[in-house]
Amino acid sequence: MNKISIIVPCYNEEDVLELFYNKITEVSENIDAEFEYIFVDDGSKDKTLQILKEHSKKDDRVRFISFSRNFGKESAMYAGLKESTGDYVAIMDADLQDPPDLLKEMYDTLLTKEYDCVATKRKTRKGEPILRSFFSRMFYKIINKMTSTEIVNGARDYRLMSRKMVDSILEVTEYNRFSKGIFSWVGFKTKWIAYDNIERAAGKTKWNFWKLFKYSIEGITAFTTTPLVMSAVIGIIFCIIAFIMILFVIFKTLMYGDPVSGWPSTICIILFVSGVQLFCLGIMGEYLAKEYMEVKNRPIYIVKETEKDLEK
Ligand code: UDP
Ligand code: MG
Repeated sequence: MNKISIIVPCYNEEDVLELFYNKITEVSENIDAEFEYIFVDDGSKDKTLQILKEHSKKDDRVRFISFSRNFGKESAMYAGLKESTGDYVAIMDADLQDPPDLLKEMYDTLLTKEYDCVATKRKTRKGEPILRSFFSRMFYKIINKMTSTEIVNGARDYRLMSRKMVDSILEVTEYNRFSKGIFSWVGFKTKWIAYDNIERAAGKTKWNFWKLFKYSIEGITAFTTTPLVMSAVIGIIFCIIAFIMILFVIFKTLMYGDPVSGWPSTICIILFVSGVQLFCLGIMGEYLAKEYMEVKNRPIYIVKETEKDLEK
C-alpha cells in the first residue's frame, strides 16, 4: 500500500489545530493509503507544541518536528520534506485554507502516473485588499519577465508530489529558499487545480505587507540576476546622456561665452545621479548579502524536539 506524508507548517496555530486534525483524519479515511502527518512547529509561542504532543501520543500517524525558534514557513516546509517517508508527499497549511477535501482528487490524479505533482492556485484575488492585490500582480509580472522559471500567479504551497520530485527538491539546499520557484525549477509534470480563496478557519495570518515585500525580494534575487544587468544598463544610459551634455556645454561655451549660471540644475543633476548610484549599489548589496548568507552555510533549521523524544 502507498504511503502519503502530509506536511503541516504550524506557527502559533493553537486555534485551528484541533479543527485541522479532525478534518485530515476524516479525509484520510476515504483514501486507500497509509498516512503520516508531519506537523512542523516553527517555534510557536502558544500551545501548538503541547497540542501536537497530545495528538502524537494518541495517534501513531502524528509526527512532529519542533524548531528551536521561528525559522519561517520555507524552513518548515524543507524540514517536513526531509523527514517525510511517504511515496507521495503533500504540503498543507494548518488553517484549512488549503482544503483537505481536494486530497483524494489529487491522489487519484497522481496514481494514473501521468503527472508527478498536483498543485493548487487561487482563482481570483477576491477578498484581498486592493493595494496588496495590486502589488502581488506587479510582483508576478516583474519576476516572470526576469526569469525563465515560471512563477505561477496565485500559486499556493498546497500540493501533492511524487517521491521523485520531493527528492529533487531536497537536493536544492540553498539557504534563501523561495519554494514557489524551487517547485517550478526542478521541473516534472504538474497539474494545476484552481479554487476560490477560502478564509482562514480561525487565528490570524502571519504575514503582513512588509514580510510579503521582503519575501518578494527574496524570490527575485533567488531566481534571477536581471536586476544586476539592469543596473549596468542604467549606468551605460547615464554615461551616454553625460557625454551628450558635455558636447552641448562645450558647444554652448564656445558660441556664447561662459556666464556663471545653472547652479540649481547642477544640484538637481547631482542629486538625481547619486540617487541612481545608490539604488544600483543597493541592488548589488542585496545580491552580496544573499551570497554572504549562502557562503556561511548555516543550517536551514534547528530541531529542538521531535515525536521520537516522547516516551509513549
Ligand atoms: N507559518 C509558519 N511559519 C511562519 C509563518 C507561517 O510555519 O513563520 C505557517 C502557518 O502556521 C500556516 C502557513 O504557514 O500553516 C501559512 O501561514 P498563514 O496562514 O499565516 O499565511 P496566509 O495563508 O495568510 O498567506
Ligand atoms: Mg493561511
